[in-house]
Amino acid sequence: MSPDIGKRRTRGGAVMPSSSLAVISDDSDFVHFDYAASAPCIEAAATAVQELLPRYGSVHRGTGIRSQASTLAYELARDVVAEFVGARPGDTVIFTRNTTDALNLLARALPEGTTTVQFDGEHHANLLPWPNPLRLPTPSSADEAVTVLKEALDGLAGPAVLTVTGASNVTGEVWPVRELADVAHSYGVRVVVDAAQLAPHRPVDLEDLGADWIAFSGHKLYAPFGAGVLAGRSDWLDAAEPYLAGGGASAAVGDRLGDLVWATGAARHEGGTPNLLGAVAIAAVCEALAATDRFALHQHEQLLLARLRDGLAAIPEASEVSVFGPDQPRVGIVSLDLPGHDPAEVARRLGQEHNIGVRAGQFCAHPLVRRLTATGETGSCEQTRGLLRISFGLGSDIDDVERLLVALAAVLRT
Ligand code: PLP
Repeated sequence: MSPDIGKRRTRGGAVMPSSSLAVISDDSDFVHFDYAASAPCIEAAATAVQELLPRYGSVHRGTGIRSQASTLAYELARDVVAEFVGARPGDTVIFTRNTTDALNLLARALPEGTTTVQFDGEHHANLLPWPNPLRLPTPSSADEAVTVLKEALDGLAGPAVLTVTGASNVTGEVWPVRELADVAHSYGVRVVVDAAQLAPHRPVDLEDLGADWIAFSGHKLYAPFGAGVLAGRSDWLDAAEPYLAGGGASAAVGDRLGDLVWATGAARHEGGTPNLLGAVAIAAVCEALAATDRFALHQHEQLLLARLRDGLAAIPEASEVSVFGPDQPRVGIVSLDLPGHDPAEVARRLGQEHNIGVRAGQFCAHPLVRRLTATGETGSCEQTRGLLRISFGLGSDIDDVERLLVALAAVLRT
């Protein structure tokens, strides 16, 4: 356990993160329970950005001291992220705009004719970009997921890739990524992990996950908006057309049309001036998280989850409410079905009357939410009433949960 953790405890006895992991807020009364959409920025990221603001220059482009320092900072950030994800020799770390961008980039780099195997409960960012999708119904348990995947791969000819979420942005369920990856690899199928919701809550090591690639977003990982990561095997990326054609992605451009040499390595897919501040912020978070006892953070989160579940069960007005996902393994994301209530209205009232931010809707996972809320036939594009989602992370404590429970009881009562 790190020395910082253990000394600092909340009133509820939960472990507080070290100061570099403290979230920044200008409203101490506001309870933020929408981390799954965008998490608040932490001190480590803010400090890293602030330190660079007075001295940044263009990356990979200038000879002045600012450019030199910025290039160094950018490449150092890449190294830090590489370490954070346990990059293997030959792996590439590409800075993208976010997870959506990272997955689109990789989807365009698949060799011709590759089938993409996916479950239909994925976030749209991991459902829509992929070519030749083979879409499997999302199973209700980890064992079933493995069986369904095996059956699908048994019936598949030709090259394929499996793309799967690390943790669901709807149910908070942690997916059996390693088990699925082992199955996929036994069929020679490579594995992409959408870690947008996993990375903020659990260590994300490529080898441990059995992932060939991993993607995540800075703004869900306590850094500001605008930067994300794609990390993993470089062979398909090196062989693919650049994701964004332009400066940086090109090594040499001749006078005749088509007479050009594309850059190699990460630069090939990082066309244009890169987001130095975003990359540095992500790296600062990675370093801060790596220096922390993640198990203590995990336990803190489980304590909040347990209190939320117990508290909901004790609200008479919530007796009809369904909480989706298993008890374990899960991250700090809980979606509720509220029969007889409009989740958008409940969310609005929590915000306006209680200063608590949650999210209502279908969370860019329409097929999954439609199925979870189905009362009859599913299968169309029909919209459902949606769910109410409560999501938390660093900066959330037991008092926040108590406040939410009181507020939710009041809103559901009237
Ligand atoms: N994947 C999952 C599981 C998500 O929850 C999200 C966003 O909510 C995304 C991908 C897309 O992330 P971004 O909007 O940062 O690209």
